[in-house]
Amino acid sequence: MTDRKSQQKFECACIIGVGLIGSSMALAMRHRSLARKIIGVDRDENVLARAEKLGVIDQSETSLEKGAAGADLIILSTPVGAMADVCEMLSDAAPDGALIIDVGSVKGVVAKAGAALPERLHFVPSHPVAGTEQSGPEAGFATLFENRWCILTPLARKDEAYKSAINKAEELWTGVGALVEVMDAEHHDLALAVTSHLPHLIAFTLVGAADDVESVAHGEVIKYSAGGFRDFTRIAASDPIMWRDVFLSNKEAVLEVLGRFSEELAVMQRAIRWGDGKALEDAFARGRALRRAIVDAGQETEKPNFGRDKKPEN
Ligand code: NAP
Repeated sequence: MTDRKSQQKFECACIIGVGLIGSSMALAMRHRSLARKIIGVDRDENVLARAEKLGVIDQSETSLEKGAAGADLIILSTPVGAMADVCEMLSDAAPDGALIIDVGSVKGVVAKAGAALPERLHFVPSHPVAGTEQSGPEAGFATLFENRWCILTPLARKDEAYKSAINKAEELWTGVGALVEVMDAEHHDLALAVTSHLPHLIAFTLVGAADDVESVAHGEVIKYSAGGFRDFTRIAASDPIMWRDVFLSNKEAVLEVLGRFSEELAVMQRAIRWGDGKALEDAFARGRALRRAIVDAGQETEKPNFGRDKKPEN
């Protein structure tokens, strides 16, 4: 069990992109006293004003240079497509020795941008595998990362300062309640293409197809939407910009798993066409067993609606 008092304290954390993940990180750090001051940087003054009013951040900045100037911890929580530009700005703006982490859902492209930073800065790519379909500072909550995995994909740097930065990043994530795993960026991107990116693509596609049907079904799709369809609509309600960037940034891995998925779908299509009940039953039994394993591993709840009826208390 982690002793909270022994956690590393940061003097000043600068969170770039105060949306769902950025504000959850701010709240989680605040609740565990991991930073003395938290500055929020966002391009939208309105988002910053709301975040300050909610008590998520202590100070607002629309200028990344000003926000990062005095920070010993910088957290990139913008959509993945903005991270290369943010890194470029940080290469001059961030102070010597700063620990920089990101929270992006794709790691290869972000790690490449991080590797271009000067050695005086220590960038440790990170992906908390935790989130919801909501966006913006109002959606954040302090317990989002508790008991959820956070995957670190460190750069290929072997110097002592960088090793110590990896340790600090790990302490920060365990400090906000996450379980940490280290792997290389390529492996991460393939694994997450299977567990997160493909399911979102299927949900977006299914809901899009149902919307087309809706134009001829006159309200039935919404009126009679069954549990299965409603679960897909929850996933498909996720932020369009975030997901656009995920698919543009993880093209190869997504196309690879999409190819396998299409083959499996053709097998199911064939089983239905030829009345192969055994093949269908076997495939569905695999699904039930996998769901059981995820619940047993503590990564999901058996409660109806996945226990997600309400936003948890901060
Ligand atoms: P979000 O709620 O939409 O927040 C993103 C924030 O970044 C918004 O306030 C956005 O401002 C701001 N932003 C965009 N470009 C910016 C820039 N160039 N400079 C400063 N701020 C900028 O999204 P989120 O769900 O927190 O996602 C943030 C990151 O977390 C993404 O990289 C995503 O891949 C990753 N992630 C998300 C989840 C999830 O379930 N949502 C889970 C794990 C990781 P505007 O509102 O003005 O666009």
